[in-house]
Formats: sequence, C-alpha cells, structure tokens
Amino acid sequence: MLPHDPLTKHFRLTTVQLSALKRLGISSIEELLRHFPARYDQGGSESAIAGLVAGTEVTIFGTIGNLETRRSWKRKIPVGEAVIRDASGSIKIMWFHQPYLAKKFHDGMYVKAIGTVTGKTGKPYLANPHVEVADPSEVGLFADTKAPATAGKLFAIYPESRGVTSLWFRHALERVFANGVHSRIDDSIPTDIRARYNLPDIGAALVWIHTPEKMPHAEAARKRFAFEEIFTIQVTRARERAENDTQSSFPIKDGADHAERFLSTIPFSPTSAQKRAIKDILDNFSSPHPMARLLEGDVGSGKTLVAATSAHAVVNSRPPNRQSGTLQVAYMAPTEILAQQHFQSFIEFFSHLPINIALMTGSGCKKFPSKVSKGKATDISRAQLLKWVASGEIAMLVGTHALIQKAVKFQHLAFCIVDEQHRFGTRQRRALAHKGDAAPHFLSMTATPIPRTLALTIYGDLDISVLDELPPGRAKVKTVIVTKEKRAEAYESVRRELASGRQAFVICPRIEEPDPAKIHALQAKSAKAEAKRLQKDIFPEFRIGLLHGSVKPAEKDEVMRQFAAHEIDILVATSVVEVGINVPNATVMLIEGAERFGLAQLHQLRGRIMRSSHPPHCFLLPETAGEVAMKRLRALEKSDDGFKLAEADLENRGAGDLFGRQQWGVTDLGMEALKNPRLIAAARAEAQKLVAKDPSLSNYPALAQRVASAGQELHGE
Ligand code: ADP
Ligand code: MG
Repeated sequence: MLPHDPLTKHFRLTTVQLSALKRLGISSIEELLRHFPARYDQGGSESAIAGLVAGTEVTIFGTIGNLETRRSWKRKIPVGEAVIRDASGSIKIMWFHQPYLAKKFHDGMYVKAIGTVTGKTGKPYLANPHVEVADPSEVGLFADTKAPATAGKLFAIYPESRGVTSLWFRHALERVFANGVHSRIDDSIPTDIRARYNLPDIGAALVWIHTPEKMPHAEAARKRFAFEEIFTIQVTRARERAENDTQSSFPIKDGADHAERFLSTIPFSPTSAQKRAIKDILDNFSSPHPMARLLEGDVGSGKTLVAATSAHAVVNSRPPNRQSGTLQVAYMAPTEILAQQHFQSFIEFFSHLPINIALMTGSGCKKFPSKVSKGKATDISRAQLLKWVASGEIAMLVGTHALIQKAVKFQHLAFCIVDEQHRFGTRQRRALAHKGDAAPHFLSMTATPIPRTLALTIYGDLDISVLDELPPGRAKVKTVIVTKEKRAEAYESVRRELASGRQAFVICPRIEEPDPAKIHALQAKSAKAEAKRLQKDIFPEFRIGLLHGSVKPAEKDEVMRQFAAHEIDILVATSVVEVGINVPNATVMLIEGAERFGLAQLHQLRGRIMRSSHPPHCFLLPETAGEVAMKRLRALEKSDDGFKLAEADLENRGAGDLFGRQQWGVTDLGMEALKNPRLIAAARAEAQKLVAKDPSLSNYPALAQRVASAGQELHGE
C-alpha cells in the first residue's frame, strides 16, 4: 500500500460509496488519511431514551424505524422522520429541510444519534440530529449495560456524505494504519520549523488526529495540520509575491502633485483614511516593481475616490521615451451595471482632461468624449475600441470580465484596478496583468469584511490598505430586530417608506444544506415563495421583482436595471445574489432568517441601503428567538464597523460556518487556525523566510508537492 495508490486498489467499494468519496474529494490512500474528523465523541457518554430532558444535547443508541418523508403542515417544508428505540423507550427524530436523510437508513438498523432534545415535555423529539450507523464496539447493546472497555474512548466523527459513514471511515483507516502507510508520507513541513513550534511529524499526527487516546493528542495533531495548511498557502502567496517583485513596471512620477491637482477638482476633502491609502499607492507607483495591493473598506467608505486619484496620476503620465500619449488604466467591475456606473463616475471625474475613456461589456462598447457631440459618450464597435486600446488612444478602459479576453491588448497598460476581487480568480487577475510589456500596478478593492488573519492568508501576496473611516455626514443605518409579534409593525414602516417614494430590499435566508448543489434550488424556492406571498398578502399595491442564484445573467441585469430605474419597488433576493448595485433610493431592507447569516455578511447586506441622504432602515427578522442568536444579532444594532463584526463572527462561531470554504479555498480546520493570530503570523514569517532562501523550493520536494496539490484546490475559482 502506497500513499498515492487509488483506494479501489485496496478497498472493495460500491458505486454509492465511490461517488460519495468522490464528492468528498477522496480517491487515494493519502486523501483518505487527509480526510480529518470534524470532532470526537466519548464512548460511554450515551443516555437512556426514557430519561431524556428537553434542552440537553444527548447521544443515544438504538434501532431506527418508522422512516418516512413528508412536508410539515404549517410551513410546508420537507421533513424526514424516524423513531429510535432502546430498551428504555423511544423518541422521534425530525430532519427539517433534509428529508433525504431518512432514506439513508432502513428499519432495524442499529444507530447512534447526537442532537438536542426539543419539544414539550411528554412529546420530546430530536431536531436535525446527526445520525450514523453505530459501531457495536462503541457500546453494549443497551444503554444501561454499556461495555466498560469503551467508556472514555474517543471516537472520530467524520464529515460524511450519503453512502459513507463515520463507521466506514474508522474501519478503513484501521486497515490503512495497520499497513503502516502513514509513516511513508514525506513531511511537507521542514524539520526545523516543526521543532520551533513543537509540531508532531506527519506520521504521528495522522494517528493522533484519527485515533487519539486523549484529547490533547488530537489537539496537537489538529494544530499541526492547521499550521501545514496555512503555511502551504503562505508559501504559495510568498512565491507569487516574489515573482511580482522581479517584474518591472512603468514608473509614475510626481504622484503627489497629480493627486493634489485632482483632489482640488472634487467638491469634498478626502478622509484621513483615504489620504493614507492614496499615499500608499503613490509610493508604490514610484518604485520600479509593480504594486500588488488590496484596498479594504466598508461599503460607502469611498474606495472609488482612492481609485480615481491614483488613476488620475497614471493617465497624466507619459509612456517612457514618448512625446505624446499617456499610460493606460484598466478598471474591472464585477457586474455590467457596476461597470456602467463607474464609467459614468470616471467621465465626471476626468471630463476636464484631454483623454479618452471607454466602456467594454458583453452587451456593447462606448467611448467618451464623442467626436460629434463633445461632453457625451457614444456607442462604438468592439473592433474599433480594441484598435484604440491597442494603439493607446484610450487612456482609461472600464469594463467587466470582457476586459480579460485574449483579444484585448493594451499599448501601455500601467495600472489595473479590480473591484471586489474575490469574484475574480487569481488566474483572471493574472490574465489581465499579462497584457502589454511592463507588468501593471495592481489594486484590488473589496468591501467584504473579513477578519485580519483571513485577509493575511488569502491575500498574503498583497500589501493591504484599510479605509476604516466613513466620509462625514453619512446617515447611520437604523437596525432593529423584529420579533414575530412585531412583524406587522415592521411591514407598516416599510409601507410608509415605499409610499413616500423609497424602495426596499427583502433578503431571503441562507439555507443550511449539506449538499451545496441543492442550495441554489432551495434558496430560489424560498425567494420565489416570499415574493409571491408579499405581493398577494402584504404589499399588493407595490411592484415586486425577484432575483436568485438560478436567474440567468441577462435577466439578472434586467431586473437590476428595473430596480435602479424605480420600475420595481421591492426587490426580493437571495443572499447569493450580488446586490452590489448603487440605488440611492433604496433605503429599506428586510432580512428574513437573519440568525442564519454571519454578522459580517448581514453588515455587508445592509451596506446596500447606506447610499442615500434619507435615513436607512434595516429590519432583521429571525426565525427563532434563541438567546444566543439574539445576542449575536444585537451586536448589529450596536456596531457599524464591518471588520469588527467579522472578528466577532470568528470568535463566536467556527469561521467555517460563516465564510464558506468554497469561497476562500480554506478548509474548516484551516479556518479554525484563523482564530489564532500567532499561528498565522508564525506560518507567514516562516514561509517568507523559506521562499526568500529557496524560491523554487528545490530543497523542499515534499513542500513543493503539497503547494502544487493545494494550488489546484485554491485556484478552483
Ligand atoms: P465604496 O467604498 O463603497 O466604493 P464609494 O466610492 O462609492 O464607496 O463612495 C460612496 C459615496 O461617498 C460616493 O457618493 C462618494 O462620492 C462619496 N464620498 C467618497 N469620499 C468622500 C469624502 N471624503 N467626503 C464625502 N463624500 C465622499
Ligand atoms: Mg465601490
């Protein structure tokens, strides 16, 4: 047995198991070893069903039966049901939104269930418990005669997929460990680094993480793998940065003078945070290597002004050894509507300059100024625009993804600005950067509030500037938590706002669903149903629009346009939908199922209604009124600092819950590590030191291999 052997070489697998393993990304022995437990259960801690008390978390063993699926009679949501019996009694279990779980088991199977006892006395049930086929070695046949040998023993509980249970993993790994293959994996963390931080080597860590004798062993192993993951990302980022720093860029001189001249043309003065960010950028412009910088700032913090001031310095600079022409700027926005809005803003900012500004999107191209009517933009053909971009006549090109097509070639591209970069993958970013001869300075802008440790990790190759201050005089969003009884009142306030000519967003909940493929469909359904209900029962007099993840891009743009043009009063949308559109007249937001969101995400959503001088209102409508949920949501009533809220999220709950590993390419274990700033700092410093010494990693083959295989996951965007 070798680490890279396919599982099928050593295990007989059913097609169901094969596809389940594939979903979990496991096809080799090493990948099996790297599928880590989500948590551990202690044997001997189970309860007898007869004695269960509502409100407690319990582990029970018993036979499962009465399996069925149906829809709940009140809310019509799909539910899976079953009953678990032991010698002492029986209890009902219900899986809301996950009816298929009931099909995973069949009558008479011996199972273990972990969950919280819910419901009134006399009618208790377990809601959404974790249920798995039980290992007879974990327990005696009946709760009151448990086998003493297993009391206190730790059992690994794995992230499962339909078809492979924790029990399957434990048995499979037992065979792998018996074979000794785990000690034949090369350690990707260099020995000296392991020694400095007291990290177990890979062989020991694999045993400890899967079959720990005591919790401290499991913890040490988890720390090692968390470090390994962060270290691997940091090495990748450090190499990207090193590569960046070997390239040369167009020098942009006299930045401070250009900035001063530009800022004197706008009607307000920059905040001190904006001034700092502008200075950071201009300093980078004067260096011979391309800038690689991230500008983080809450919605409304004024990132556009920072971008415009720095772009102004570029379009006022000549290419080297030229008597005419200017350096060029590319500005990439995440949606067509935003590209159009930015095109307009830049026309306003730069209309006094003798330069051409152009817009390129999937649905057409425009140029400013028009030859015939000065002061206006005009439609031009794509072919013509491409020619002018290539000859350098267009100083500033604004657009969407269309900007990174192969056909787009610049003459002297000196500066790339990418708005909301996490929507563009690293690959796309590079594609944009590789046009023209010298490498362009690169500025990425984001309003996504993420904790600092996460920013340092996923944007580890970028320098960071933060806008931690809003321009003065901005109306604060009034945020209120609306309990079930107060719902009608909230709708009345919304009606008043709508009647006085404002517009509203209604955001439908994130749905927790173990199978990501199902999220879109379920969310679409909840948004559709809500739009229908609001139109029929609550707001029949207003025009309601609908946006969700399954709406086609063209249709989505059309709905956004209608909302911007006030042809729609209420926009019902799911959180997966980018509502990053500037509609100053939208001043009300209702967020259904608010407790299902992270604080940072809620904060970002409500940022959409901060753009007007009318006082904005945000209503949070939680589905449950549990103390923990309410406490979390109250933080939003009090704080309006997105980055602080993101830190609070990280502390309160597992980061994995909140940010989603697909989004950032970091596993749940890596996300745990983000709670530990010292670990992040150490991994980063070690990675930078190592890459400075050996950029090609030629002395670290195991690390190079880890970097390569993690890279495939990371660049999956
Ligand atoms: P974001 O960071 O979300 O992209 P914008 O750049 O769109 O924010 O700025 C939001 C609004 O604030 C715009 O209307 C902009 O003109 C205004 N603004 C930006 N900077 C300042 C400032 N220093 N003082 C006053 N208003 C400002
Ligand atoms: Mg913006």
